[in-house]
Amino acid sequence: MKTQGKVASIPYTLERRRTSRLISVRVLADGTVKVNAPYRVSLAAIERVIVSHQETLRQAIVDQKMHLHTYQNGDVFLFGGEQYTLELRQGTKQGIVLDGDSLVVTYCGEKVQPLVVQRMIKELYRKTVKARLEPLVTLWAGRLGVAKPPFSVRDSRSRWGSCSAKGRLNFSLRCQILDETQLSYLVLHEMAHLVHFNHSKDFHALLALHMSSYKQVQASIFALQKQSQLYL
Ligand SMILES: [Zn+2]
Repeated sequence: MKTQGKVASIPYTLERRRTSRLISVRVLADGTVKVNAPYRVSLAAIERVIVSHQETLRQAIVDQKMHLHTYQNGDVFLFGGEQYTLELRQGTKQGIVLDGDSLVVTYCGEKVQPLVVQRMIKELYRKTVKARLEPLVTLWAGRLGVAKPPFSVRDSRSRWGSCSAKGRLNFSLRCQILDETQLSYLVLHEMAHLVHFNHSKDFHALLALHMSSYKQVQASIFALQKQSQLYL
């Protein structure tokens, strides 16, 4: 059951769950506040938790919103580790292309909806990252001595990549923001799960063996988390 509320001028969505054991308060990537709580906890108790964390929550909301894309002229996108400025141009044929340090979207008609621009950027990300992942999956299969696994690129917001129990890899189209070292680490990480299906000591030792700087690379990917959100 979901309800809306507001306390200390912080709007929130409350979801009561039978499976929740604790009150959890999260700021989502779009800057909204989501609260999960068990049925037995009173609304007053939940709001007391929000009020007691109001400073941290307000800062987190501001942080998240700063990184939201507008899909208007001047919006900045990362592409292969480089920054590109969005430029919307009126033309006769719809298209998207990198030109210098601009990401040029050509549209037909009077104006273009942000959602259309978003869809075009996502498609470019998907296509480009798929082509970049292909040789990396081959490379790491060779180095790790495993059979080359099948992989797909999906519109995932919550994870950069994953490896299924059946050995299938999934990558988010948002991986296209990563530079070559970061993307290579990500592929190594997911493929190391074909050897160790966990995050055990052995798993980390395997990462260190193949990429001695993996901890720094991983930290640099975490730092990009907020900019990786591709929605309005
Ligand atoms: Zn993992």
